[in-house]
Amino acid sequence: MESTLSIIKPDGVKKNIIGNILKKFEDSGLKITHIKLIQLTEKEASEFYEMHDGKPFFKDLVAFMSSGPCIPFVLMGENAILRVREIMGATDPQEAKEGTIRAQYADSIDSNIIHGSDSQDSATREISFFFG
Ligand code: AMP
Repeated sequence: MESTLSIIKPDGVKKNIIGNILKKFEDSGLKITHIKLIQLTEKEASEFYEMHDGKPFFKDLVAFMSSGPCIPFVLMGENAILRVREIMGATDPQEAKEGTIRAQYADSIDSNIIHGSDSQDSATREISFFFG
């Protein structure tokens, strides 16, 4: 059993597809154990993405993630980290497989609807970031 952190990013909330996204995870058998709707400050978004500080896309990423409400949630299940990443699809929606969330809903690599932890260490850090 694993837990992983996912976020419906501000573009997903604006597009009114929260239910569609959560349904994809629930249909795959994963359980939502924590969920909330919040708006990150720029400081909080910078902290969450601190590993990308200094990269060319960092400033835009922080501005985007704090531009409106988002929905962080925890998914639990067998191999949850990998399964969530498969359901999300590749970071760049142009490379995402058909049927994945990003292939279906994302506009671009900067505005890609959903986040998912990329490792056990990230999942632990990110769950604690949002849910203590
Ligand atoms: P992660 O890979 O989940 O740590 O998140 C990095 C996030 O930065 C992605 O989900 C994208 O929203 C954003 N991003 C914007 N431009 C790029 C890029 N060129 N490479 C990787 N990520 C990017």
